[in-house]
Amino acid sequence: MEVDRGVTLSEALLRHDKWLEKKGIKNANFAVVTWSNWDCRVMLESECRFKKIRKPPYFNRWINLRIPFSEVFGAVRCNLKEAVEIAGLAWQGRAHCGLDDAKNTARLLALLMHRGFKFSITNSIMWQAAERSLIWRQYPEQPSVYPYCPFKAKDMNNPIIPYLPYCYCGVKSCMNVIRKPGPKQGCLFYGCGGFSVTRGPRCHYFEWVST
Ligand SMILES: [Zn+2]
Repeated sequence: MEVDRGVTLSEALLRHDKWLEKKGIKNANFAVVTWSNWDCRVMLESECRFKKIRKPPYFNRWINLRIPFSEVFGAVRCNLKEAVEIAGLAWQGRAHCGLDDAKNTARLLALLMHRGFKFSITNSIMWQAAERSLIWRQYPEQPSVYPYCPFKAKDMNNPIIPYLPYCYCGVKSCMNVIRKPGPKQGCLFYGCGGFSVTRGPRCHYFEWVST
């Protein structure tokens, strides 16, 4: 995030999301690309948690450009600036300025793409504490909708288990299934993770589970 003319993190995420939508990327098969795992695994995750911001789910899986870079150039222990220069590009802008780092990461990515490198997801934030979030609970005021537990504990190591996004309360959401007969019957969605039997959901978070 740019510090000089900064916006808040939630505003930046919102603008970024709108930009993805405008560019037709949001519903396409796309991936976040970063240099190292720090941004997605630690920084964004913890800051969103701390500020109780709902993090868009596409930040839960990413390509750590270090991996393809080291496969192509062999150099593993170098920083982004060094990597850009090893690849034969001139560094542009300031190092450790978020925006310039992002631009140079993109240039390095473009170079590897031109070389025909086939990219795939290198890391993801898996469902953590999913077992606790998926306790069967009832929505007394919404009889057509019941929380759903599609995965049993024995499946917890299964890599296809999806992440649980955060609801507006800043906690892991709960996965539910539409039980009401109709075109959406059986469809999965994420709902408020702060649900309690006595008070119901604490926020209006709702998102379809994309399959
Ligand atoms: Zn909530």
